[in-house]
Amino acid sequence: MSPRKIFVTTALPYANGNFHIGHIMEYIQADTWVRAQRMQGSEVNFVGADDAHGAPIMIAAEKAGKTPQQFVADIAAGRKQYLEGFHIAFDNWSNTDSPENHELSKQIYLDLKQAGFIETRTIEQFFDPEKNMFLPDRFIKGECPRCHAKDQYGDNCEVCSSVYAPTDLINPYSALSGARPELKTSEHFFFKLSDPRAMAFLTEWTQDGQHVQPEVAAKIKEWFGVRTNPDGTTSEGLDDWDISRDAPYFGIEIPDAPGKYFYVWLDAPVGYLASLKNLLNQRGEDYDAYMADPSLEQYHFIGKDIITFHTLFWPAMLKFSGRKTPTKVCVHGFMTVNNGEKMSKSRGTGLDPLKYLALGMNPEWLRYYIGAKLNGRNEDIDFNAGDFMLRVNADLIGKYVNIASRAAGFIAKRFEGRLGEVSADGQALLALLRGQKNAIVAAYEARDTARAAREAMQLCDRVNEYVDANKPWELAKKEGMEARLHDVCSTCIEAFRILTIYLKPMLPQLAANVANFLIVPPEQFADVDKPLGAGHQIGQYQHLMQRVDEKQLDALFEPPAAPVAEAVKPGGESNQAPTLGAAASSLPPEGAGSALGRPGGEAIAPTITIDDFAKIDLRIAKIVECKAVEGSTKLLQLTLDAGEGRMRNVFSGIASMYQPEQLVGKLTVLVANLAPRKMKFGISEGMVLAASHADEKAQPGIYVLEPFPGAEPGMRIH
Ligand SMILES: [Zn+2]
Repeated sequence: MSPRKIFVTTALPYANGNFHIGHIMEYIQADTWVRAQRMQGSEVNFVGADDAHGAPIMIAAEKAGKTPQQFVADIAAGRKQYLEGFHIAFDNWSNTDSPENHELSKQIYLDLKQAGFIETRTIEQFFDPEKNMFLPDRFIKGECPRCHAKDQYGDNCEVCSSVYAPTDLINPYSALSGARPELKTSEHFFFKLSDPRAMAFLTEWTQDGQHVQPEVAAKIKEWFGVRTNPDGTTSEGLDDWDISRDAPYFGIEIPDAPGKYFYVWLDAPVGYLASLKNLLNQRGEDYDAYMADPSLEQYHFIGKDIITFHTLFWPAMLKFSGRKTPTKVCVHGFMTVNNGEKMSKSRGTGLDPLKYLALGMNPEWLRYYIGAKLNGRNEDIDFNAGDFMLRVNADLIGKYVNIASRAAGFIAKRFEGRLGEVSADGQALLALLRGQKNAIVAAYEARDTARAAREAMQLCDRVNEYVDANKPWELAKKEGMEARLHDVCSTCIEAFRILTIYLKPMLPQLAANVANFLIVPPEQFADVDKPLGAGHQIGQYQHLMQRVDEKQLDALFEPPAAPVAEAVKPGGESNQAPTLGAAASSLPPEGAGSALGRPGGEAIAPTITIDDFAKIDLRIAKIVECKAVEGSTKLLQLTLDAGEGRMRNVFSGIASMYQPEQLVGKLTVLVANLAPRKMKFGISEGMVLAASHADEKAQPGIYVLEPFPGAEPGMRIH
């Protein structure tokens, strides 16, 4: 049987802000599914992209004094830390302003036009006479026609929740210029979803039980029914879809229609294909040939807020432009935090993914927790701090990781790290574990990771019962029980290997560490049936996972510090906070170039509060080991002891100044709570402080800090 070929996407985030926990949840869900597919031999291309177009980005870029392209590029540059931080491995990340997307969007439009699905119509719209542009609904404000609240948006009232048209507003004004908008006519382009061919296709495609979850199909069916329009008339079926916007607009210009642009939602999903094409181009593969393969499957992971775009507009666009339609659109619900308290101002802004990483919380705790909650249905899930701690500490560590830690020591100390023969009762246990393989693989396929996690934990229970029945710690003390001890511990190690394979899509980094410890190549689901066997040499057991500390969760949900907090002068003799203005005015003007204003070649950074400083955890660390890094002339690799009972690996760009042996045994200062960073040569778990001039060409040299005598590893710097 030839491997499945699958093209997988996640919804394109709008490029006007950072990722929130909802994005991360979707990416973890899709990434887990992709990893499980690859563990069955499927050939997967997994792509994402930034959604770059539309009026909000154009306006935000103008405010920021950037071109829209630069604005989007700056947002995109911030994506990496989230994706790498949570082990989310897209094969490509592009954006919808790419040449591939311009080309594909235009071609799809022309094909739709050719097939008779595009129509032009004249509509009336609000126009800002000062900005000289048609206004999107969100940029028209005025008095609510129902409750008369002032300053409400053009599409709905935030006070009484009424929904209305912008033309219903009393005393409307442009949110951009404040000018009174004028009604102006404009020619718009429509995608004719009211065409009976579209209705027939979409009814079949959404209701045949193949392409969307049953609960999603039921919801779509409601939209096909009879409904009442705002003017009191009724209609049935689907309305035509307005796919054009007038200049100025940041988007893709419509062929043969100067000054008309595709509405952002027309070209956004085309961005899936464009990111794939961009990836295949990079690899020198043929996009058209890839898409033409009838066995190619196309999977989209999306949230419940964008069902219409993905289950009506998008399949219809593909179908009637003569393209492959999606195999499945997988819809998930939202994530609430601590029972929906996320909106509470006193608890901050919910679960901030970067804060989570910055606190040194293990990304795989969250991957596992989200996996253990998602069941493949369109349902909301709740992140509950207590539940999170229980699932990680009691299940993941208590039931699973402990199996290895209980057995590995005996194998290393008593049997030179070699596995022994497994006798009948051990074989029976392993057979039980292997027998669940198909059920677990099927759970991953159905995106029911909750079931996969549950099955795995039940198997962990069986293994722990076996351990408790055989008590290796007692066998180790008894005369003549050497062979049985070897047998029991070898059974545990093999069981742990099988369980690790089952959990690997959710815990890729942990599984890689386990593969190192067991000295096995990266494993597929099929490897469950290939035992390591007697005589297999395993490596030194390394601590695999820390427990969640309640303090970390408290810190995670602590509201952010107030923007203006009390500052303390050095020495603490005054608590009178200097204002930023006063501090700045005591310095010569920027760019004066004087040594006074630019000590060390750069001006002093803006004032921070003592609370800002307290966020940076600086610790004394001992340089236990120091090595040159092969392939780098800049970096040294430091092994640091910051008194934590474990070593830290830190890369530092100081090779031009120091020989490794000069540094060994010295104390220095470590930024201990900096998010770990994956570098070409490995993970850097912090940063060592060093001084340098801002202009390293004019004044080269970088100097590592060393504390006065008496400081000890682990001491905090205040
Ligand atoms: Zn109102």
